[in-house]
Amino acid sequence: MPTLFSARQEQVNPSDVFDTHPESSLDLAYVREALKNGYDKPFLLIDSSIIRHKTRRFKAAMPRVRPHYAAKANPDPRVLKTLIEEKSGFEIASTVELDLLLNLGVPASEIYYSNPIKSSAYIKYAAAKGVEWYAIDSIEELRKIINIAPNAKMYLRIDTPNIGSDWPLAGKFGTHLADIREIIHEAARLKADLAGVTFHVGSQCRNPQNWRVGIERAKKVFENMRHEGLHPRLLNIGGGFPVRHTKPIPSIEVIAKVVNAEIADLPDEIRIMAEPGRYLVSDSACFVCQVVGTATRNDKRWMYWDAGMFGGMIEITEGLHYEILTDRSGNNVPWSIAGPTCDSVDILMQDEMLPQNIQEGDFIYILNAGAYTTAYASNFNGFPLPDVMVI
Ligand SMILES: *Cc1c(COP(=O)(O)O)cnc(C)c1O
Repeated sequence: MPTLFSARQEQVNPSDVFDTHPESSLDLAYVREALKNGYDKPFLLIDSSIIRHKTRRFKAAMPRVRPHYAAKANPDPRVLKTLIEEKSGFEIASTVELDLLLNLGVPASEIYYSNPIKSSAYIKYAAAKGVEWYAIDSIEELRKIINIAPNAKMYLRIDTPNIGSDWPLAGKFGTHLADIREIIHEAARLKADLAGVTFHVGSQCRNPQNWRVGIERAKKVFENMRHEGLHPRLLNIGGGFPVRHTKPIPSIEVIAKVVNAEIADLPDEIRIMAEPGRYLVSDSACFVCQVVGTATRNDKRWMYWDAGMFGGMIEITEGLHYEILTDRSGNNVPWSIAGPTCDSVDILMQDEMLPQNIQEGDFIYILNAGAYTTAYASNFNGFPLPDVMVI
């Protein structure tokens, strides 16, 4: 039997992590135009032409890799429609996401159910609607799916290094080396169509080597599948493709070089897909909110926005450093920044350098905020959900 991979760790190669290609952002002239109609609550302004551009750029960089957009990054129907027009496929985690896409006319065969743990009811629903492919990462889920949908095609999510990702995802999902053989063996025994491998390098991954390691491991798993009599036909290289904020990133073209080299020897019968979320939508949008109050306490300056971690800005609390603009040009001084709710966790940043003369009523412009912002927002404490506008 072919040997599986060793748990080798990979370091970030510093020469991979620099900007080699210009990145796009929404033109702020559109924001000023939108504000001419007044302001009553935070909003996300999306330029759909940037979503189109990013989708085309992704495909041009990796012609053999079909993008399946991760709907959770921004499930606004207008965003989804733009991606449908650009011939993207989709990746979902729930039946609500499934219905959203089916109602927009996406064929069920274009929708991949990549959540490794799904309720029986959701599997049944998705199978009845015609979804063909399902992720698994455990023997329990394999048995669950085969009982409900014996013809389901499955892809195995394997554990890969998340070194150099701003949101390491390893840990919650991903089959470990020790369990892979048993799952493959059980799939063969049950005559389940376990026919693919997937991995997720972690979100906002700035280390292209993680994709290389993931693909190397997937190839070894394919060998094992064939050895057990399975017929592998899908490599799904997941999401994690980064976007420009304040840190340098490897461009998609730099990541593509690594991916394209690694997939070059895969036979044609293996279809290759990816699940970009952030990469396709982040740059297309600017999030606009307003300062509702400032306070000086013990010589510390605080400003309170009308959108905090419950209003769309939760990734700031997890360490994402957005580029933030204002209409002021005073000297920059350290500010503590918090959301409008009374929850003590609703603090976004400490010592963020912003103009000293910022006042109540000022607008805050957060760039490249199209992903994982409005999708997370809640009505907690009675504050309204942000608007989403699309041009
Ligand atoms: C969230 C998610 C993605 C998208 O990740 P990004 O970092 O936004 O590209 C892709 N695949 C799966 C399974 C996910 O859960």
